[in-house]
Order: sequence, then C-alpha cells, then structure tokens
Amino acid sequence: NTFAEIDLGDALNLNIRRCKYVKPTPVQRHTIPISLAGRDLMACAQTGSGKTAAFCFPIISGIMRGGFPQRPRGTRTVFPLALILSPTRELSVQIHEEARKFSYQTGVKVVVAYGGAPINQQLRELERGVDILVATPGRLVDLLERAKVSLQMIRYLALDEADRMLDMGFEPQIRKIVEQMDMPPRGERQTMLFSATFPKEIQRLASDFLSNYIFLAV
Ligand code: AMP
Repeated sequence: NTFAEIDLGDALNLNIRRCKYVKPTPVQRHTIPISLAGRDLMACAQTGSGKTAAFCFPIISGIMRGGFPQRPRGTRTVFPLALILSPTRELSVQIHEEARKFSYQTGVKVVVAYGGAPINQQLRELERGVDILVATPGRLVDLLERAKVSLQMIRYLALDEADRMLDMGFEPQIRKIVEQMDMPPRGERQTMLFSATFPKEIQRLASDFLSNYIFLAV
C-alpha cells in the first residue's frame, strides 16, 4: 500500500517521493484508482485528508498519458485541459503550490487565477500557457467573459470543497462554467466532486455534472 504500487507514471511518482509521500491517505487510497480508471467521482473529504493530491495525481497522470493536444494558435485565448475550482483565494493558492510540486519536470503547466487581486498578472501567467487551471468561480467567469480562457478542451474537472462554494453563493457561476464546458464540440470530460457534507444541493450538482459516478464516503 504505497504510491509506488499505483501506476501514476515515473515522473509523477518521482515527484511524490520528493514530497516525501509514501503511503496514500484513506481518501487517496480509495479515490485515485477510481479516477485513474476514468470514472466520475463524488467523494467525502475533510480538509487535511489529502484531497488535493487525490484529485491532482489522476489529473497530472492523465494529461501525461493522454499527451498534450495541439491548442488553437493565433489567439490570445488559452485552452486548459483541466480545471480545479476552489472556493477561496487561499485554498486556490495552496492547491496551485501543491500541483506545481507534483507536476515538476512533467511539462504540465499549472496556473492559478483568483478574485480580489489585479487580473493583469494572472493574464500574463495564463498567456505563457496553461494545462491545469486552478481558479475561484467568480474570477473564472470574468476570464471567460473576456474570452481570455476557453473551456472547450477541458478533459478533467475537479470541484474542491463544493459545499463551501455553494455556501458562498457560487452556484450560478459554477453552473455557467460547466455549461461552457458542455458546449459542442465537447469531448470526454471526467469530473471529481469533493465535499465535506452532502446536502440536497450538492447531490443535485452531482447528478447534473457527473455521469455514472461512484460515491465514496471514507
Ligand atoms: P490536503 O487535505 O490536501 O490539504 O492535505 C493535507 C496535508 O497532508 C498537506 O500538507 C499535504 O501535503 C499532506 N499530505 C497529503 N497526502 C499525503 C500523503 N499521502 N503522505 C504524507 N502527507 C500527505
């Protein structure tokens, strides 16, 4: 029961060792194989349970296995392959830092965009290229409206602390974001929803956004 036994790819496994992770946490042990198998997932996860790695590892591994597709050129719009939505600036920054460590020397580029800060620096980061975008819902809607980001090529969507995002009133923004992802031509999208609690609103979100999903309460 170690990360070395899970087929995440050599580069990612090396980074996991660099982070001194040896054993998966219970959430990781249960969710990572499901996500690697390509299934949608709704999982119960508290802060500190290791959920960041639980959604980052399958995303990074999947992007590396699937290869980097050609993105449209001659436009200032960027086309990330994966989106991680999180409720707050602090959490987004944390996820970004971890995701960058996990994707070190893999060629996978991670960029963060959050509200309450000037957009220009974030735009410059985005324009250098992005595979995984970590974002808060409000700022992402802004970027979509400015046509700085397109979600047409998203293959992986992770919703972190979904209950907290709804508590903060982000449901309209989240729905707008997922609608853009579902516009044709739409490829396969794999979705992971993490939440500490499962009120009706979260269950509705899951049935609207996930397909044929596995529910895990660890
Ligand atoms: P998270 O719940 O994702 O915020 O993670 C909580 C803390 O646990 C973070 O500091 C992670 O770096 C750390 N962590 C996550 N997974 C593991 C693991 N498998 N082994 C050791 N530390 C971990």
